[in-house]
Amino acid sequence: MSFESLGLSPDILRAIADAGYTEPTPIQAQAIPVVLSGKDVMAGAQTGTGKTASFTLPMLHKLAVHQNTSTSPARHQVRGLILAPTRELAAQVEASVRTYGKYLSLRSTSVYGGVHIDPQIAELRRGVEILVATPGRLLDHLHQKSVNLSQVEFLVLDEADRMLDMGFMPDIRRIFSYLPPRRQNLLFSATFAEEIKRLASDFMRDPQLIEVARRNATADTVTQVAYPVANDHKRRLLAQIIKKEDLRQVLIFTNTKTGANRLAHQLMHEDINAVAIHSDKTQQARMQALAEFKEGKIRALVATDIAARGLDIDDLPCVVNFELPHSAEDYVHRIGRTGRAGTSGKAISLVSPEEKRYLSDIEKLIKRAIPLEALPGYGAERLVEAAGKDRYRERSNERARPVAARHVEPERRVEPESESVPSAEIKRAPIRRPGQKREVAALLLPPRCIPATE
Ligand code: AMP
Repeated sequence: MSFESLGLSPDILRAIADAGYTEPTPIQAQAIPVVLSGKDVMAGAQTGTGKTASFTLPMLHKLAVHQNTSTSPARHQVRGLILAPTRELAAQVEASVRTYGKYLSLRSTSVYGGVHIDPQIAELRRGVEILVATPGRLLDHLHQKSVNLSQVEFLVLDEADRMLDMGFMPDIRRIFSYLPPRRQNLLFSATFAEEIKRLASDFMRDPQLIEVARRNATADTVTQVAYPVANDHKRRLLAQIIKKEDLRQVLIFTNTKTGANRLAHQLMHEDINAVAIHSDKTQQARMQALAEFKEGKIRALVATDIAARGLDIDDLPCVVNFELPHSAEDYVHRIGRTGRAGTSGKAISLVSPEEKRYLSDIEKLIKRAIPLEALPGYGAERLVEAAGKDRYRERSNERARPVAARHVEPERRVEPESESVPSAEIKRAPIRRPGQKREVAALLLPPRCIPATE
């Protein structure tokens, strides 16, 4: 299928071609015609599926009737409103609006908290057709009357499940009261909790349900590997992996803000240029860190889940879970930062004996066993032994090694282990031997996509 066949205008097709996209992703192929037809859409799609363009492109197409170059604010009313859970996602979605709308005379801006409100007020007062906002800051603007939403024709809730997790539902419902009743509604969410369904039935009219990627599936383009390691040795092992594998751009997840700060600091001591991003950092510091990371000036970006949510870093080669997330779904979100748009990626997890139950929760959720790579000298020997040899890649068998671990050499020094683990718990997950097919093959982007509806 081609973008031309979806019925988008030449100005938008030109911008798509400039972006280098040759073929719509499954969510784009399914959602764009439905949105163009004027129907409400409820889409189950995760970050990495191309979902942003699936709502941005048809919205721009339909709003193109409002194009004008007048300087009068009255000629630039908000027609499209996109709500996003985080500042980073809001900024990225607006960047996409600009990219795909570069040949159109439509104005856009994004508003989010953590930065001064005055420049946003000035921008809104000049008039914009497309507004991307986080819910809290948008309410601030509504209270200050710096924005009028009475002419909104399109409402998009992006990553609705994240907005629910972050407690934005009351704000979102308040925002609805500022919108006109006649409008087109689009809702994107990776999962559909009861509350999301309730919200959808309250504000959408007979929405068409579109679901493209299996929920909670990991992309087949991501090579996953886990290293058992005692907590005390994680930092040393991480530094070794980064250096030995010559990882130039790696996104590392920690579970806490202090953990992120500490790890970034420790990596700097190992001569690895690292910066931590989390919600205590200013918006400017987070944006700058992200920009420098994208430019390759920062080698390791250490992030908490909240800070990393919605980050779109093209061609990110590697994600590391310095600590396993306590929610298995967060694992899927984390490793979805790599292996995007059909490129290959690596997801490395450092697993301490205390975290073994999180590992089995993740394996149950993604319905596949994550290959374990045993490295002597990192305090996890008894864990390795207890789990049984089958659970581990043979280090002597070159072909069986995961790409992610190819250059990692075991250290000579053997450290005392921290804890042993009952073998039954770790062996529960199915074992994938070299050459054996993977059980789950949910690929998110072309050319090898599986449009699986659940
Ligand atoms: P998203 O799911 O919207 O966060 O998009 C994930 C990534 O896919 C972004 O880096 C987009 O630039 C990229 N992308 C979106 N649509 C396409 C497409 N049709 N072909 C290739 N890459 C795409």
